[in-house]
Amino acid sequence: MKKVYLDNNATTKMREEVLDAMLPFYKDIYGNASSIHEFGRLARRAIDDAREKVAGLLGAASVEEIVFTSGGTESDNFAIKGAAHALKAKGDHIITSSIEHQAILNTCKFLEKEGYKVTYISVDKDGIVDLEELKRLIADKTILVSIMYANNEVGTIEPIEEAARIAKEKGVYFHTDAVQAVGKIPFDVKSLNIDLASMSGHKIYGPKGMGALYIKKLTKITPQMQGGHHEMGKRAGTENVAGIVGLGKAAELAKKELSDESKRLTGLRDYLYKGITSRIESIRLNGHPDKRLPNTVNVGFKYLEGESIILNLDMEGIAVSTGSACTSGSLEPSHVLTAMGVDPAETQGSIRFSLSRDNTKEDMDYVLEVLPPIIKRLRDMSPLYEKGKK
Ligand SMILES: *Cc1c(COP(=O)(O)O)cnc(C)c1O
Repeated sequence: MKKVYLDNNATTKMREEVLDAMLPFYKDIYGNASSIHEFGRLARRAIDDAREKVAGLLGAASVEEIVFTSGGTESDNFAIKGAAHALKAKGDHIITSSIEHQAILNTCKFLEKEGYKVTYISVDKDGIVDLEELKRLIADKTILVSIMYANNEVGTIEPIEEAARIAKEKGVYFHTDAVQAVGKIPFDVKSLNIDLASMSGHKIYGPKGMGALYIKKLTKITPQMQGGHHEMGKRAGTENVAGIVGLGKAAELAKKELSDESKRLTGLRDYLYKGITSRIESIRLNGHPDKRLPNTVNVGFKYLEGESIILNLDMEGIAVSTGSACTSGSLEPSHVLTAMGVDPAETQGSIRFSLSRDNTKEDMDYVLEVLPPIIKRLRDMSPLYEKGKK
């Protein structure tokens, strides 16, 4: 059976080149990068090289601004807790958005239990954060603003440049969860003037369990992992050399291919959405019509349950999701769609199609062939649909 994987915002297939780059570090180059003999020096050199590539992808001014972590979740935890703890004497107020990934939201909830105050700014119907609200909310005790660069569920790209400027004008640190943006759209920490940025390996065809946090020079941040002097004293633990090498390779390739690939994916994504609108009625596009990730289209199918659409597509070899891999399994409506003001009845039937470099027009044609009869069959069985038609 044909297989079409369209859940790339959950995770991507690791590239062949990435695996090839990593393998020697699982086999022959096994030294500890802190050792001064040749085994160690080879590992150290590989880490230095990877750090340069990640710095290049993010636009960091210096390689020392890149700290390797175990992924996007750890980077988000490190940025938020690290800044909050370091700036405790200055204030206790954090501002974030209502559509962040759980790695941000639950870290903020954790800090609220420690006594910090967190404000969650709202978004409009397309998922764009309210910058006026941000301006109003920054107070004397505000120490950090964290707003994601692009949303994982609907793909909306946030006005980070303006948001960062607002924060910096008030002397407040700015962090962005750039996990979905990095490698998909141009991203440059220098021109954005941000202090902290999170990225993850497995969202850009790199290894799982591998990520990085950009920490602008002189930014005050408290390490969250105590131990040896690894990662410029910011993140202890013997380096995951193979993982770091894989992340570096993925970063190098992402930078090289970004502009061509983003054009190709935008074309494919729009072809898929147009095809859906011309074949299926009563649907809605969730997310901004054009300020949106090139690979992401989230469609609401009125009167239906997302889970049943997923399972039916799965039987035909097509992998999609309702939005967030980390919230599925719970029957609660998506916090992102809810924050965007989508009617609860409509959030249920929302499906995220997230494309990758491996997807082709044939894949889209296969979805367009398989999806309409599934939606028709499910709607024919749905009591909501009958009511809605009247
Ligand atoms: C996937 C994701 C994360 C978490 O990254 P992991 O490497 O899986 O821990 C954080 N934020 C966003 C926006 C994501 O899409």
